[in-house]
Amino acid sequence: MYQALLIKYAEIGIKGKNRHLFEDRLMHQMAVALRRVDGSFETVKEMGRIFVMPHGECDKVGAIEALQNVFGITGICPVLIVEDMDYDNVAAQLVQYVQETYPDNGTAQTFKVNARRPWKQYPKDSMELNADLGEAVLNGCPWLTVDVHHPDILLNVEVRQSGVYIYSKVIPGPGGLPVGTSGKAELLLSGGIDSPVAGYMIAKRGVEIDAVYFHAPPYTSDRARQKVVDLAKQISKYTGPIHLHVVNFTDIQLAIYEKCPHEELTIIMRRYMMRIAEIFAHRDGALGLITGESIGQVASQTTQSLLCTNAVCTLPVFRPLIGFDKQEIIDVAERIGTFDTSILPYEDCCTIFVAKHPVTHPLLKVIEKSEHNLDDAIEPLMQQALETTETISITS
Ligand code: ATP
Ligand code: MG
Repeated sequence: MYQALLIKYAEIGIKGKNRHLFEDRLMHQMAVALRRVDGSFETVKEMGRIFVMPHGECDKVGAIEALQNVFGITGICPVLIVEDMDYDNVAAQLVQYVQETYPDNGTAQTFKVNARRPWKQYPKDSMELNADLGEAVLNGCPWLTVDVHHPDILLNVEVRQSGVYIYSKVIPGPGGLPVGTSGKAELLLSGGIDSPVAGYMIAKRGVEIDAVYFHAPPYTSDRARQKVVDLAKQISKYTGPIHLHVVNFTDIQLAIYEKCPHEELTIIMRRYMMRIAEIFAHRDGALGLITGESIGQVASQTTQSLLCTNAVCTLPVFRPLIGFDKQEIIDVAERIGTFDTSILPYEDCCTIFVAKHPVTHPLLKVIEKSEHNLDDAIEPLMQQALETTETISITS
């Protein structure tokens, strides 16, 4: 069991002036994640490294699991802290650590001691520590041999004023950038497999997320709405809190259904979704839209269809799944825990109004012309949809 966790994070892109902003945000996100874990944890920055210190009775395993969802972390290292820094004691503790962590399992294992001495007053320097501690481990663990080039086990020993820190295991983190370091974007979140994955992937690049869901009661049920709330909850485990705007889209859909060619319904409907999502993006301070679209997946996602949908957007549209096959998206959905909810069989507003033969090669001019059929009706319907939107605060 560990006395501290050393947090590793990728340093690319965070050098120079931005570094402390990145680190402060990472520490904030870690603190938020650890709030859900039993016990008291302190997150500290010490000489360019971030540590988590548990205090008293804590769920130490739960802490590691929570930190594995914090974007920006590349690795989590459980650390043994030896406070009595007398050399003989340090050597004895290191040997015991190795015996317990890497017991003789019948296979040949190699190791190397990698000592650092940030606290220069310590009587042995790092070269001496490497040699002497290496010898102590060889004597105490005869099943191990030394390999200084490609060791199976890298025994890190850091001599600090507060104690000697020993660690060797790196538990992988999710990578990416801490949420909140790259602005905010508005996710068009449906109950499907794709859009939660799209939100996850953009949040992984440090982007905060708010979301819009278009529902069409009575054509879509409360259960379909609840499914989207549940998906938002599941991704908020990674993204942090989400404002989910639930837009009543029925009257707009009915107007489109009544006045526009049926094979163009999905494209026109999607254009209105984008327009409304942009309004919420501006209100929420979001700098882009996010969808789960992937080229060619359905008629509304051919390159021509995407051109028509995109034409109403003034904000950039982030489509992280654009080049993904369905199976690749499913693999991520399973890994992040949204798949089982996504496949619950509740109808989506898009499936109610789909045409038998939707256009796959829509022309923008034709679509714009069809949309003019709505000119007299659409403004008050948009207004009403905005006014009746319910906003739900989602936290995991
Ligand atoms: P998903 O699995 O995320 O539902 P999909 O494969 O079903 O995607 P479409 O239904 O064509 O694809 O939708 C494409 C994208 O449009 C979705 O990924 C989502 O971002 C957005 N979208 C579709 N329907 C809705 C909705 N009811 N509310 C909010 N966004 C939606
Ligand atoms: Mg869908």
